[in-house]
Amino acid sequence: MKEDISVLIALQEFDTELLGFDQKIEEKKQELIVREQAIADKEILAVQCREKATKLEQSQRDIKAGSQDAAERIKDRQSKMMQVQTSREHQALLKEIEDAKKTIKDTEEQLLQVMEQVEAEEAKAKELENLCAGEQKLLTEQTSKVNKAIEKFNKQRLAVQEKRNKMAQNVPSSRLKRYDKLLKKREGLAVVRVIDAVCQGCFMTIPPQKYNDIRMGEQIFSCPTCQRTLYYLPETEEADA
Ligand SMILES: [Zn+2]
Repeated sequence: MKEDISVLIALQEFDTELLGFDQKIEEKKQELIVREQAIADKEILAVQCREKATKLEQSQRDIKAGSQDAAERIKDRQSKMMQVQTSREHQALLKEIEDAKKTIKDTEEQLLQVMEQVEAEEAKAKELENLCAGEQKLLTEQTSKVNKAIEKFNKQRLAVQEKRNKMAQNVPSSRLKRYDKLLKKREGLAVVRVIDAVCQGCFMTIPPQKYNDIRMGEQIFSCPTCQRTLYYLPETEEADA
């Protein structure tokens, strides 16, 4: 039985190593995703600036139309001046002309303001677009680096996987099945050491009698809390490790 557990320990070591590769590969992929997201966020902002500028340009046209209307009104009222008889009608026309002139003056100021806003939004969009282009270039470079790194990890991983598979051939199939199931269920950790009667998988205390049995090493035991397979190593080996 003592043989059995040492094979399981070795198997767990390989699986932990494999998991480490998986995590490293995932981290590398994540680096790219984070960068892609940062670029995508900026692209959205740039589009929003462009849309804002387009809307402002529309309001620019509306303001211009209002100014043209006022100019038309001035012409119209001026031509009517010749036809009016009373001073009251004359005054009313003058007032309308003054109002229209004021509208034109106000719209000129508004136009200037809106034009400045359009320029500001377009400048912001341009800046964001330039940033995106630069970051996209960096991302392309990084992508090829990341792919190379992943390729390297995969190669190393494959070598470990082969060793693992060879080792697994030494485990009785029913024991291996249980091990694989536990590995999946317990986040890649199926075989754990017991230190001072504490399971190093779930950190719960093992009952004294069971702890003694585990220390004897005659039989394979599971943690009563997390069901991981337990093994005991004398403390002196801890110092060597
Ligand atoms: Zn446990």
